Amino acid sequence: MKIRSILAASAAFLVLTPISQIQAAPAKQSAAQLVPSQLPRNAVPTHYAITVTPDAAKLRYDGKVRIEFQLKSASKTITLNAADIEFRAVSVAKGRAAATPANASVNAAAQTATIDFGRTLTEGRYTLFIDYAGKILQQANGIFALDYKDPTGAEKRAIFTQFEAPDARRFVPSWDEPSYKATFDLKVNVPADQMAVSNMPVAARRDLGNGMAEVRFGTTPKMSTYLLFFGMGEFDRITKQVGPTEVGVVVGKGNGPKGQYALDASAKLVGYYNEYFDTPYPLPKLDNVAGPGQSQFFSAMENWGAIFTFERVLLNDPKITSARTRQGIFATDAHEIAHQWFGNLVTMAWWDDLWLNEGFASWMESKATAHFNPEWQSNLDRVNGREGAMGLDAYVTTHPVIQKISTVEQTSQAFDTITYQKGEAVITMLEAFAGEDIWRNGLRAYMKKHAYGNTRTDDLWTAVEAAGAKGLVKIAHDFTRQPGVPLISVDSAQCVNGMTQLALSQSEFSRDRKTAAATKPQRWNVPVIAQIVGNAPATTIVSGGAGNITLPGCGAVLVNAGQSGYYRVLYTPDMMAALKDAFPKLAPIDQLGLLNDSQSLVYGAYQPVRTALELVDAEPAAANQRVTEDNVATFAYLYGLYDKDAARQAKLAAMATQRFGPVLDRLGMKQNVSDSTLDANLRSALISTLGYMGDANVVAEASRLFNALDTDPEALDGPLRTTWLGVVARNADQAAWNKLRMLGQSAESQLVKSSMYRLLGASRDIALANQALALALTPEPGATLSAAMIGSVAGEHPDLAVDFALANRAAVETLVDVSSTSEFIPGLANGSSDPAMVAKLTTYAEAHLKPESRKPVEQTIVAIQTRITSQPRIRSEVNSWLHAK
Ligand SMILES: [Zn+2]
Repeated sequence: MKIRSILAASAAFLVLTPISQIQAAPAKQSAAQLVPSQLPRNAVPTHYAITVTPDAAKLRYDGKVRIEFQLKSASKTITLNAADIEFRAVSVAKGRAAATPANASVNAAAQTATIDFGRTLTEGRYTLFIDYAGKILQQANGIFALDYKDPTGAEKRAIFTQFEAPDARRFVPSWDEPSYKATFDLKVNVPADQMAVSNMPVAARRDLGNGMAEVRFGTTPKMSTYLLFFGMGEFDRITKQVGPTEVGVVVGKGNGPKGQYALDASAKLVGYYNEYFDTPYPLPKLDNVAGPGQSQFFSAMENWGAIFTFERVLLNDPKITSARTRQGIFATDAHEIAHQWFGNLVTMAWWDDLWLNEGFASWMESKATAHFNPEWQSNLDRVNGREGAMGLDAYVTTHPVIQKISTVEQTSQAFDTITYQKGEAVITMLEAFAGEDIWRNGLRAYMKKHAYGNTRTDDLWTAVEAAGAKGLVKIAHDFTRQPGVPLISVDSAQCVNGMTQLALSQSEFSRDRKTAAATKPQRWNVPVIAQIVGNAPATTIVSGGAGNITLPGCGAVLVNAGQSGYYRVLYTPDMMAALKDAFPKLAPIDQLGLLNDSQSLVYGAYQPVRTALELVDAEPAAANQRVTEDNVATFAYLYGLYDKDAARQAKLAAMATQRFGPVLDRLGMKQNVSDSTLDANLRSALISTLGYMGDANVVAEASRLFNALDTDPEALDGPLRTTWLGVVARNADQAAWNKLRMLGQSAESQLVKSSMYRLLGASRDIALANQALALALTPEPGATLSAAMIGSVAGEHPDLAVDFALANRAAVETLVDVSSTSEFIPGLANGSSDPAMVAKLTTYAEAHLKPESRKPVEQTIVAIQTRITSQPRIRSEVNSWLHAK
């Protein structure tokens, strides 16, 4: 699964961070520990034959399932999962004997049903028959409906499923845990004019003569329940053949051409992974199915053979798709296709190893993206992903990558930045330690050994160490079993005979318990790569808190060269001064790593603010586009720091215009055919940020283009459409806001409509923000867009959005998918600096969230408290820097 992309979700800069973690796991886990389960282990399913008849208009469905299972010991009952399922008839049979009735009793809280046979059955193979009915939801959980208007303006409804983590139980009574792998036959009765899609190709379709058709899909390989998929609607399907595999993209009727980019990407990626894993893709086909609207929780899901992706990260629409969104289409596809092997063919045994699925797919996504698109310099994006993880990992509310999961709610909360981005960063570090070839050989062996099975994290480490990466296991354990961020201090550098000797020590980087972390830091085995700028790198392992390394050459010292390490680096002031002078000579990835480290060390009071600002000043005029983007973001952060200080905001805006205006002039305000993707991204970032700060030229150009829409409705079409409208939305008056709303109402596609309604929430004007909130509670935006509008308001007005969501809590919760309920309100609050917010969130959590679901609230609270404490210090130091300008 790909979690919601925070950058794409908001037009404003104070983006919502999805933070959701659960309590740190207790010490170490034994490899021999049994796989956890919420179900008794006395029965194992081997095959499901499911028949489902959806009634899309009534949002209900009828189901029948025949489950073949093995009873492992004599028993009168078995227990499986079911949620919101009405049991109509249950019976059980042994072999060819006649079925005898059984009784189902439901435990709604545990999401289970216990089947009582009325007598003790002996050990052996049985068949369970269940007739049942269930609900079709309107947020993306279980089986759900998404409504949209087709290009003629007609109202349409399509049906999809989303089962990860634990929602297959809303579709079929089942052993809904990843270790219960079985084969599946799915048969569905659908309207005769609609297409039906599932994991396997259609085996047979016959018209029932009553306006309905019966569609039977091929039998799946052995797989976990959470990977089952079904979709139906008025679809088009485009395909490409890759060896024996038919690769497809399934879109709403008429959208075929917009799916071509994703189809081409999928075709390349399947070939790449076939080779990388040295195991051919095992199903006959691989579709990627587009759904309109969105979820607050995820953007795409790796159902085996039938990936589901929301349109806004799958369709390439020349009217609206930006260069960055197109990169996102490729990356999301690369992520979900990586899961077809890593996750689907080999699956974590239980959700505490979710990171293995997600960290790995995130890492593989970057690797495959970089392979096919070297000009995107995707390795630079890894630095930002690592930064996001370290940001959360520096608070006491973090958790280890491998975490204890015991309830359904905890499973949903485990899909977080630590699982994805720290997981990716740790794998990046381990691959660098092992070397690319040994790492890949280990993976190939792992894939072959565990195909169609389940694993624990240590199975992967064992395979890679066996392939030749001696010492990998202990590093891997340190970074996955304990939380937190190592801090490597460069204590001294001695130049002797053309060589430099570094003394390193290891502490712990913390935002909220700096003294405690310094007094008694956790210990890691940290692989460190260092170099003298311009010379060859050398490596060492810092172990037990200290290490030494000798580097060829003398001069500016760079630690974590290449940025594959998951740790921060603290230099002495002299070393920082030398690095600042050498800054233009650093590789862009090291420039970015140094800028990020330096700023975070400032926020944590490990070094003066001046040190980070001097680095920003040291950026060369012709820096890499991503480095310039990072500096642009720093100005946006500083601007936001002076929320109620118009004079200093004006000064910062003037500085930003002076510094970045010429860069924008050079790039031009229009997209050129010859633009590189990085130039296109930088242009968009400059327009957004300068527009955010009210730059006169940018705001005037946004108005001019917006006015031009009156005579030419296509005046804004193209990759910068959302960027320009974002500037308009932020600076909108009532007339402009009304016109944006009208553009949303009359949008000719769901894709354009989605972007317009998010923009309505992005206004700086508080009256307009209130209007957006009120509009979000009406049916106008559509079931899945309203929560995004509220989120968009929170970007600029977090306190307003939270007050609104609390005042309308019951209504707002119906706009958010079940998996995200406990995260939504703390997510809105995340940009707040108001001390009163802490009490509001505490009261909310105590009244409405179970204790095990309060982690997102606790994390937001600690971030707000730290912000309130640190901002006065940061502001006072920035004041001096501004004064000197
Ligand atoms: Zn994933």
